Amino acid sequence: MILPIVGYGHPTLRKVAEPIDSNYPNIKQLVADMFETMYGADGVGLAAPQVDLPIQVIVIGVPIFNEETKEYNDTLEEHVMINPEILEAKGKEQYYNEGCLSLPGIHEDVLRPEGIVVRYLDTDFQEHTEEIHGMYARIAQHEIDHLNGKVFTDRLSPLRKAMVKRKLGDVSSGKVKTAYKMKATK
Ligand code: ZN
Repeated sequence: MILPIVGYGHPTLRKVAEPIDSNYPNIKQLVADMFETMYGADGVGLAAPQVDLPIQVIVIGVPIFNEETKEYNDTLEEHVMINPEILEAKGKEQYYNEGCLSLPGIHEDVLRPEGIVVRYLDTDFQEHTEEIHGMYARIAQHEIDHLNGKVFTDRLSPLRKAMVKRKLGDVSSGKVKTAYKMKATK
């Protein structure tokens, strides 16, 4: 089931999300719905607060570049993280142009470490600690920010923040049209 996505200005995007445990009802269905919502909106990641659920669940779809065909694979490499925690940054900080389904029409270069060590639970509530890099690490960091009530524009310089302020206002007042279903800001 495709879930409506909340936009910038919605209070759930600013909440610190709660960790969950194996008592959470039907986590696998929620994760399936989150992937369906992500694909339906042509995204590469989605955090539960973006579908108005302030819990620590993220889904990620990493585009994989095929060195032989010199094209991206047709399918994304799927990952799910529950209660993720970044333990360490790895490698250099790099800029990458980010967008967000909750901030339609806004794309900005964001500085983040190239890799991270992350600890998380899978959908069977088994713990994993992994060192990840590249696009996977980039998307994971963006989605983990959502669990801390942050969006990518919070990481911009004061000047760039000032420059996107009007666009953010247009999103929160519901002026920006999207091809996917959004939930009105409360
Ligand atoms: Zn986002």
